[in-house]
Formats: sequence, C-alpha cells, structure tokens
Amino acid sequence: MAKKRYRRWKRRDKRVPKSPVTLIPLGGTREIGKNMTVVEYGDDIVVIDAGIAFPDEELLGIDLVIPDIDYLLENRERVRGIVLTHGHEDHIGALPYVLPRLNVPVYGTKLTIGLVRKKLEEHRLVRQAKLNVVSTESRPIKLGSIAIEWIRTNHSIPDGAALAIHTPAGVIVHSGDFKIDPTPIDGRRTDVSRLSALGEKGVLAFFCDATNAEVPGYTPSEKVVGETFDQVFEEAEQRILIATFASNIHRIQQAIDTAVDHGRKVAIAGRSMRENTAVAEELGFLKIPKGTLVELEELSRLPDNKTVLLTTGSQGEPMAALTRMANNDHRQVQIRAGDTVIISATPIPGNESLVGRTIDNLFRLGAEVIYKEVAQVHVSGHASQEEIKMMTNMLRPEYIIPFHGEYRHLAAFLKVVEEMGYNRDRVIIPEVGDRIEVSRGRGVINGQVTSGPVFIDGLGIGDVGHIVLRDRMTLANNGVLVVVVVMDKQKGKFLSGPDIITRGFVYVRESEALLEQARKQAVGVLKEIEEKHITEWSVIKAKIQETLGVYFDVVTGRRPNILPIIIEV
Ligand SMILES: [Zn+2]
Ligand SMILES: [Zn+2]
Repeated sequence: MAKKRYRRWKRRDKRVPKSPVTLIPLGGTREIGKNMTVVEYGDDIVVIDAGIAFPDEELLGIDLVIPDIDYLLENRERVRGIVLTHGHEDHIGALPYVLPRLNVPVYGTKLTIGLVRKKLEEHRLVRQAKLNVVSTESRPIKLGSIAIEWIRTNHSIPDGAALAIHTPAGVIVHSGDFKIDPTPIDGRRTDVSRLSALGEKGVLAFFCDATNAEVPGYTPSEKVVGETFDQVFEEAEQRILIATFASNIHRIQQAIDTAVDHGRKVAIAGRSMRENTAVAEELGFLKIPKGTLVELEELSRLPDNKTVLLTTGSQGEPMAALTRMANNDHRQVQIRAGDTVIISATPIPGNESLVGRTIDNLFRLGAEVIYKEVAQVHVSGHASQEEIKMMTNMLRPEYIIPFHGEYRHLAAFLKVVEEMGYNRDRVIIPEVGDRIEVSRGRGVINGQVTSGPVFIDGLGIGDVGHIVLRDRMTLANNGVLVVVVVMDKQKGKFLSGPDIITRGFVYVRESEALLEQARKQAVGVLKEIEEKHITEWSVIKAKIQETLGVYFDVVTGRRPNILPIIIEV
C-alpha cells in the first residue's frame, strides 16, 4: 500500500516538478522549551509558535531564554505570520520579545489568543499587535502560498490544536503538544477523522511531540484526576488546598466541580492562577457555578470543611503562594494540622528538589500532603508511545520529525516509529537551526541558519552572553578580590595602597592574617614594578594577578577572581 502510494507520487513529480518546502526548528528540538519552527516555501515564511525556555541552573541570573530570531529579521519582508498551537509559555512566551522586532500577524484559537492578549497587555504591547482568533471549525487561513488549518487535540490546556500546513510541496502536520484523551473534561476530543483524512490524502512530513516517547502505553485521561479528587474530598475533614499549573484549566475545572459536589467554596491564591482563570472563564473555557468562588479573606470565615483553596506553587517556585504557605510566610493563609494539600502536578525537570522541599515543609506543619507518588492526582498532557503510534498511523507521513524533547526523548521516539516499520532515513532529528528540505521522496538537512539561545536578564534582551555568564560562574564559585593602588604615572611611583577588598572569597574578620600576607606580596610586586620602571597598565595588572594568584593557590588552594584597580594621579 505504502509502496504504491510512493510510486504514484513519483510519477506525479515528473509531470509537475515542485521545489521542496524548508522547515527550520529555531528551538524546541533536542531541548524542552522555546518552541519555534519556520515553514518556508518560495517567498513565504510562516512561523509556528514563539516560546520561552526556563534557564538551567548554570545560567546565573538569567530570567528567560528565547530563540534567536535573526533569521526571521533578515527575511522580515517574507514572514507572513506566527501561528500558535496552544497557550503554554513554551509556545507563546517569547511573543513579547519577538513582536516589537517583528510585528507580524499572530493567529491562534480563542483561548490561546486570549492568553496572548493578557500577556501583551502586561508588556504594554497589545495595541500594536495584530491578533487573530481562528477556529478548528473554520476554513484554512491563507498566508501567501501556505494555508494553515487548526485541528482539535487534547492537552493540559484547553483549545490546543495540531496544525496542518498546506504547501505546494505537500502537507506538513505539526502535532503541537498533544495527547489522545477519549474522555476529555470539555468533551472536545482529538479530531481523529480530520487527521485520518489528511493521512488518506498524503502527509509529507509530521512534527510529533516526543515528550513522553519513553513512556509505554497510553497517557491516562484527565478524568482520572477528578476521580482521585473525589476520593480525597470524601476523606478530608478540614481545609483542602490544591496546587496545580495556573494554565491547567481542565484541572482547575475538576477541582471546582469536586468542590461544588462536596459543598465547599473555592478561593484562588496566586496572581497567575487568578488571571488565567479570569481569562478562561470570560472566554467560556471554565464554568464556575455562581456563588462558588469567594475571596481569600472570606475563606477564613467559613468552616474548614466547607473550603477549598486553589493555589499556584506546584513547582515549589520560591515566590509562589503554596511555597510561601509551606514556609509559613504567606500573609493570609497559615497551614494547620488537619489540612489536606494536593500537589496536582509533576515537577518540571530541574524543579524536583524545590517541590520536595515544599512537600517536606507542609508535612512538618502538620498537613496531609497528597502528591503524584502516593495517588493519581496528576496525569500528563503529552502522548505516550501508543498515542504516538496512533497519530503516526492516522497520518502515515513520509517523513517524521520528533520535537519537544531532549535527545533521549527523540531517541526513544525513533525506536517507537522504527518498530512501526519506519526506516531510519524517514525520521529526521534536526539540531536547532538546521534547514530541513522535504519534497516527495526526498528529505535532507541542507545547511544551517543563524540560531541559538538568547538570554533575557531584567530588561536586557541578548546583552548577556557567554563571557558574562562565565564571569558570573567564576564569581559565584570563587569570589572576587580587588586590589586598589594609586599611582603617579609620570614618576612611575605608587602613592598609596595596595588595599585589598574581597567578597565571597574568605570571611574577612577571620582572615586578617591571610590578607595581610597577601598585601605584603602585593607590596613586593609593586616595588619590583617601580624598580623596573614598568608603566604599562596591562603589565602591572598581570603581575599583580599572577603573584597573588599563585600565593592564594598555594596557601588556600582557592582561585579567587583578582581584579587590580590602578588609580592614576
Ligand atoms: Zn503545552
Ligand atoms: Zn510545550
């Protein structure tokens, strides 16, 4: 069957030779986060998603990481728009940094655009933004020679979609982040009939979410969590607190529904959750029965067994509401013995110890803590192996490009589709910036474009690079030692100093002898410099650094950053 189809394509190709479509991941491959993929055909460029990544621990002081968009800026007159799969930060979070430099139209489903609008309002960028709401029911949006169609999928945020990207070279399907949930909370099932129809017609390439490619079987339905909530509510005698992702509207819906069933009122703590629930309710994605929601202050006046508190902090984020409560540092809520706290989330890689600490602290305060390891209070929003196979079977793409995964996830994905009979040369695992060219019967990586991470630190975008980060790292690891001298440059004489100031190197009060010895070493070098009539700053600095560097290495085994400062008079 597949062979026949392939031959037919080949024949057709001879009649109408088509140039290939170019696909460039600018982020989101061999990494989780900062998703951005370029689709390019002829004069037209369409960008899929514009996400952020959170910094690794070694990126000291960095707030966020976004994709490098130089390639898009160089080709700005060809960029027709940015199309969004769903409203998670790793797919929309970079828009406030991208749009001021590349103000192209943005397209997404209702909730996705609602969340983008909120985000742009915060950055005071909403007025100039060209936001367009699309629907999974409407006709494809034409952007030059490329037409985009949104297809319903399930995920841990409502209104998510896969994209069918119709190009003259063939159809590209981008899964977005997806799972196949047969019993979704909002009744909005993955549109398998549309996906199968695309498969029937022929899909050239398929970008597939590989997050859970290591996980066998099916990802459980979101509904399972509601059942667990019900059991927990049944047993809880006092207050119930539920922490989850602020964007997991389905989860929030289930918490509210369970609260209503058990005659409890609900309050919300944490700014991001308040904002997201407000947007979701306004747009009809969250249904809160009248009289259910109360203010946080009101909650304390109700009997304990009549209350539920929904809160942020499921990742142990230091400033989030639950973390503060666990630290006994929240203005309005104190954790008490008898409270039941549900952590309805899984730690994002890197956050495990923060979440662990929050759970420890909650237990210490006497709460009963229920988390993923002890009850099914969380399910993933991403497809496991069997769903990846289902999706691939429906689409039967000629080429598969796994994304949304570290290399190990992509390697696991490769095994899954190889098991299905896909040859290795049909699976493309690009690096960020690779130009993938696909046409019928041909899929190759052909060169690279400018790409990489751009670091955001405070208001600065991209001004902190590897040199600054390296300095921060050595400062953090070794501390700094400043040597100040005053010099009469004309006479080549030192007038005062050396004074030594340190931070993060040794505790000064207990190291006076050490620093006095160091000062004497420095005096020795300065004398030598005077005698040799050395007046060149770089040489003077290097000599001070060398002498003190050797001295501290021998005496302490440490290598502080030595910063000579020469004041000239
Ligand atoms: Zn997502
Ligand atoms: Zn994602």
